[in-house]
Amino acid sequence: MKITKDSVVSMHYTLRDQAGTVLDSSEGREPLMFLQGHGQIIPGLEKALDGLAIGDHLDVSIAPEEAYGVRQEELQQDIPLSAFGGVDKVEVGMQFQAQSPQGPMLITVVEVGEESVKVDGNHPLAGQTLFFAVDIETIRDATAEELEHGHAHAPGHHHH
Ligand code: ZN
Repeated sequence: MKITKDSVVSMHYTLRDQAGTVLDSSEGREPLMFLQGHGQIIPGLEKALDGLAIGDHLDVSIAPEEAYGVRQEELQQDIPLSAFGGVDKVEVGMQFQAQSPQGPMLITVVEVGEESVKVDGNHPLAGQTLFFAVDIETIRDATAEELEHGHAHAPGHHHH
């Protein structure tokens, strides 16, 4: 059986950045389970996994355009410190949910000044080429319910 659109796949993975630093890994956890072809994982990884079989190992690098996007400088902006009224102390690295014309987005504080705060609305991995090492554990067809929901259901989990 090979991975195609609508396959439910479980895989172990390790994600590294350009410098080789591990950003995320399923090591020591259950493998990641997802529904192929429904945007549950980044587009570049979906493409790379297409056609793989159980037991296959893949090392692949994925450009920002096919991962979390290129950095958009206009998503960096200065906000008056007074806008953070409910926060005791605004610190670099804090993340907040903000409303944008495109819907809710996560912003990260990158600089705190006397009266203003510089925030960045880019995904933390935007602009980065990502390196995945994956091992395919299982592949099966999606159930009708999974297709309807657009995601995989782990065995033994109650329906939501
Ligand atoms: Zn569901």
